[in-house]
Formats: sequence, C-alpha cells, structure tokens
Amino acid sequence: MNDCIFCKIVAGEIPSKKVYEDEKVLAFYDLNPQAPVHVLVIPKKHVTSALDVNEDNASDVAAVFSAVPKIAESLGVAADGFRLITNTGRHACQSVKHMHFHLIGGVQLSENIL
Ligand code: AMP
Repeated sequence: MNDCIFCKIVAGEIPSKKVYEDEKVLAFYDLNPQAPVHVLVIPKKHVTSALDVNEDNASDVAAVFSAVPKIAESLGVAADGFRLITNTGRHACQSVKHMHFHLIGGVQLSENIL
C-alpha cells in the first residue's frame, strides 16, 4: 500500500532496526519501546488489521506465528515469557493500519491487560 509506513519499512524506504526477516515476515524494534524488549512482528503483505485476515492472506499471518518462537529465542525472552498483542481498531488505539504484533517482554508484566 502506497501510504502505509510499515509497507515502506518492508520495501526499505523507511529505515528500521530489524531483528528477524524471512520471505513473509519482518520484525523490527518499536520506535517508542514500552518495555526492555519491544519488537513489532508484521506480515510483509499488507493486512490492515485482524479484521482483514482471510483465506488469501492466512498463510502470511500464520508465518508470523511460526516466526515468533525464533524471534523470542533470539531476543532472550523465550524462557521467562512475553506478551504478544495486536491492537485492532479505534477502541484498541490501533495507530498503524498494517496489522502488527507487539512482542513485549524483558520484564515482569502486569496481570492486567488494560
Ligand atoms: P499500534 O498503536 O498498535 O498501532 O502500534 C503502532 C506502533 O508502531 C507504536 O508502538 C509505534 O511506536 C510504532 N511505530 C510507528 N512508526 C514506527 C517506525 N517507523 N518504526 C518502528 N516503530 C514504529
């Protein structure tokens, strides 16, 4: 998508600090980290949000989940655990309209999700 910043990161038009890349998935550090480890994991293919997952892009989304264990291991958060969150729409404050999963860890997180 032309005006999507995460598509531009995938295309290399906007710089990012990459932590993982394969054919279908990219992971890079969040610009404004909210925890010692805060990485965004995205399908390279533009998927607007969790509401737009369908049979055409399901394999791209599945590839994100296949990559997560490798990413978590490489970031050193696999043993103690982490949170994987995708904000969807207005109530969840989704600001970038390219589906992304916040992988957050490196610290004891609250029991509360809100
Ligand atoms: P959300 O509010 O769930 O849509 O999260 C969007 C996230 O993208 C925020 O945590 C931002 O800090 C992050 N973000 C926005 N632009 C960039 C960028 N160019 N590189 C890395 N992270 C970004």
